[in-house]
Amino acid sequence: MSIFNFDDFIGPNQEQTEQPVIQPIEQPVIQPIEQPVIQEDLAANIETERYFDLNNFLTEVYNKDIEKNHNMIQNQKYMSAYDISSGCIQNIINKIRNVPVRNYSSKWLPIVLRSYLGNSVHDFIQENSNQFTEKEISIKVPEINFSGRIDCLINNDVIVEIKSLPYNDYRKIIKTKSPRTNDVYQTLVYKYILENYLEQSKNHNENTRTQKPILNNYNIKYIQFIYVAHDIMASDIESLDEAIQSVQHVKKVLNSKHNTFYFMCNLLINLDECDVSPHLTYIKNKIERVNYYLANNLNVKKDDEFVDTKACFFCLYSDSCPFK
Ligand code: SF4
Repeated sequence: MSIFNFDDFIGPNQEQTEQPVIQPIEQPVIQPIEQPVIQEDLAANIETERYFDLNNFLTEVYNKDIEKNHNMIQNQKYMSAYDISSGCIQNIINKIRNVPVRNYSSKWLPIVLRSYLGNSVHDFIQENSNQFTEKEISIKVPEINFSGRIDCLINNDVIVEIKSLPYNDYRKIIKTKSPRTNDVYQTLVYKYILENYLEQSKNHNENTRTQKPILNNYNIKYIQFIYVAHDIMASDIESLDEAIQSVQHVKKVLNSKHNTFYFMCNLLINLDECDVSPHLTYIKNKIERVNYYLANNLNVKKDDEFVDTKACFFCLYSDSCPFK
């Protein structure tokens, strides 16, 4: 018996499997790919060597920024919470009246990148947490020329504001364990509007890009800040070495050997433990003053308490402002 006689391996009780007939696979007919017709001028472009040019990019950013600021000033209808917390009243009135400026470019161009980074930080936190009951809440009140957006709410008593910022600001916050003053004012503006203009912000007929408040009552007892250090581009940092030192200092203050999220911290303020009534009065008065000038079609007085020349550096009206 040949060791290659398979009949003996099959055994007496088994039938031999019939060998399948293998059909040859039909070869597909490959059609030649039709070459696209490249127009002559396009073909010339493709053949030319081209690389990303940083100087050209900066010009592109500059031009886009001008376009964006121009559109913003042409279309601004209302004051924002940021305007109330940080803005000079002359600047606010000019923007709402769509007064043109001589030069629409931002005074410090890296600020454009910072706004993109800031948006990403907001998305990162809001998309990865289920702890908030409402997110990106539009609070528009046309009758007082106000429009704002709250980052997050938790139930009816906690406002959460996400703030991205450069490392040197972050360092001051973790050292003092205190939020920035303007951030507190901005959040108090939201409290003021939610508690005094809720009906109006739920029932107006204007378009909003995000959802309106969903509850019928808010009684804000806590404001909470999520601070995220996202960049080292502060105008007062002179060199990369100085920037690296700043980051290392932050890690040291936080003793962050095992904390990979050392660039993120959380500050909670219990409003029952501090008297915020003078600040709410300031907010109320500033909103009323803006509306007084608008309703009576008056120019802002030079000695108005809400004119703030500390804000002139970044102000687009600084080239032509009589108050500067
Ligand atoms: S230049 Fe200064 S004073 Fe004039 S509107 Fe701007 S911030 Fe106000």
